[in-house]
Amino acid sequence: MAEHVVIIGSGPAGWTAAIYAARANLHPLVFEGAITEENRLVGTLPLGQLALTTEVENFPSWPSGDASEYLRSSLDPEEHWLADIHHKKGISGPELMYLMRKQAKNFGTRIETDDIVDVDFNRKPFCLHARSGQKVEAHAIIIATGARANYLGLASEDNFKNRGVSACAVCDGALPRFRNKPVVVVGGGDSAVEEADYMSKFGSTVYLIHRRDQLRASKIMVERALNNPKIDIQWNSAVAEVLGNDADGVTAVRLQSTLDESTRTVDASGMFVAIGHTPNTKFVEGKLELTSKKYIKWTVPFRTNTSVEGVFAAGDVADDYYRQAVTAAGTGCMAAIDVERWLGSQGI
Ligand code: NAP
Repeated sequence: MAEHVVIIGSGPAGWTAAIYAARANLHPLVFEGAITEENRLVGTLPLGQLALTTEVENFPSWPSGDASEYLRSSLDPEEHWLADIHHKKGISGPELMYLMRKQAKNFGTRIETDDIVDVDFNRKPFCLHARSGQKVEAHAIIIATGARANYLGLASEDNFKNRGVSACAVCDGALPRFRNKPVVVVGGGDSAVEEADYMSKFGSTVYLIHRRDQLRASKIMVERALNNPKIDIQWNSAVAEVLGNDADGVTAVRLQSTLDESTRTVDASGMFVAIGHTPNTKFVEGKLELTSKKYIKWTVPFRTNTSVEGVFAAGDVADDYYRQAVTAAGTGCMAAIDVERWLGSQGI
């Protein structure tokens, strides 16, 4: 029997789509992603990018306060560890994601901890191929696979991945190698400032390396960077090479001025890269219309339709502009409503 709707992805867009689809009696099946080392390294584990962040201060309904009792009462016992490490600051990214997942489950969403690696949109019902070999048929599909962090693309950066180079301070920042030592964060957007701010809890100095003389980050985040005495912004600078050795991993980075030919070396026990994202659309390349930046193209204004009828997209996988948790959740809701109406129009 073909599924009514399969949702691929498990960030705010995926779970919100699941909550709405489940409440509309569509019995959604969510492929939340596989737990693999490969997914860990590229940042595509289940629960998406929000699970790699710290406090979420801009998702409505989570003012500052001690949410630990609430978390204990709403999550499954095996997830109560989240309440135990609660920081009394409203809600954290991982907590928010577990809550969304639980809410979707409460309404009957079924979950597969697996990746969809190939799709056949030429046949009806559609056919999805999972990494485990499982094949699933579905009348409608919501793609909510989000985006992943970019790296600089230097060979030396590759050499030191897992030995000081990371794109996730929250995942790796507490490692002993960074304690009371200088670290480097690359980028000038909100993510870079967030990573730098987070790393300032561990490192002695955080060098924020930005290629221009102005941060792209929002005003509140710029102020946070400028007011943090441990953050030292290196303006007009780019990382030319990550330096280190087998025994110690990263020990320094060589910086190249973006204004002249000068270079300099900065001691660092690690480098955190926060320079934007690439959408997770490889598995639909050539099967759905994508934008020039490889995001899924929404083909109808103010709707989540894609170039294939019956396939809808939600969240960062189709949004290179807003890219917020709340907008992803909003488009997840829209996609579920679009699916419900489309299935109705097909008599399914
Ligand atoms: P972003 O806003 O696109 O910023 C990327 C930064 O990386 C830019 O400063 C860019 O430099 C720099 N960059 C890009 N490619 C580079 C390269 N090859 N070498 C060196 N630098 C490079 O991405 P983001 O910071 O990940 O933010 C994405 C979205 O999420 C935004 O909408 C942001 O507001 C949101 N977000 C919000 C929060 C929050 O509110 N707390 C936290 C994280 C993210 P240029 O400035 O020169 O282009």
